[in-house]
Amino acid sequence: MIKKSLHKCGENMNETKLSKRLKTVADFVHKDARIADIGSDHAYLPSYLCVNNQIRYAVAGEVNDGPYQSALSQVHRLGISGTVHVRKGNGLEVISPQEVDHVIIAGMGGALITEILETGREKLDGVKRLILQPNVMADRIRIWLKKNDWELIHEVILEEDDKIYEILVAERGYGDKPYTDQCELELLLGPFLMHEKNSAFIKKWKSEINSWKRILNQFEQAKETEEVKLKKEEVIRLITSVEEVISR
Ligand code: SAM
Repeated sequence: MIKKSLHKCGENMNETKLSKRLKTVADFVHKDARIADIGSDHAYLPSYLCVNNQIRYAVAGEVNDGPYQSALSQVHRLGISGTVHVRKGNGLEVISPQEVDHVIIAGMGGALITEILETGREKLDGVKRLILQPNVMADRIRIWLKKNDWELIHEVILEEDDKIYEILVAERGYGDKPYTDQCELELLLGPFLMHEKNSAFIKKWKSEINSWKRILNQFEQAKETEEVKLKKEEVIRLITSVEEVISR
């Protein structure tokens, strides 16, 4: 079942002004690209890129009727329906193979973004760049990219209106890098983000560490079964390795 994300989207935005989050996504689109924006409530992103002459062609895909109608009226109002094609459908089913060279999926959870990519894998034929903006669980996407030979080439973490967002940019890779323990932490934190360690990154992971410590505290109150012992060890391992990264 497809659930509408609980994150509010589209507030204070229009075709000339995007949120800091969506503007950062837009900045990763190549000039004259052919894009698909999947989950394109109001079609703000393709409208902005079209009005600013940044793209040649766009598909704005929406599964839910309300956002689909909003996207249709936005594109109609701007008179850009020759370039931005609003289509109703689930995930990548709204595009054909080779139709676009960029796929953008923003403002959803990492699990849903991964499901959309996995279900529509054959539609990625001809796609050169993925721009993905998970609200949570970015690690799921990094794991999917790695397993499917997409190379992560940029990452951004930013804070806007008290929320922290990650943006992942990937291009076709060769899948020649083996998994190691080091990779496990990189997949969780983001290889570029853990190197840069900006204030949003530190804030996010300090907050995660605090919630893991609360979980650990609950395990400590519980009866020590083998299962609880293993889970406790796992949480301690996580806390120690992430604390080490942010304090380095
Ligand atoms: N991409 C915009 C942004 O980042 O501001 C809108 C984000 S909004 C929170 C998520 C949108 O994705 C909603 O309009 C929702 O209807 C749509 N959506 C959720 N699941 C989808 C799916 N499987 N296929 C297409 N659209 C989907």
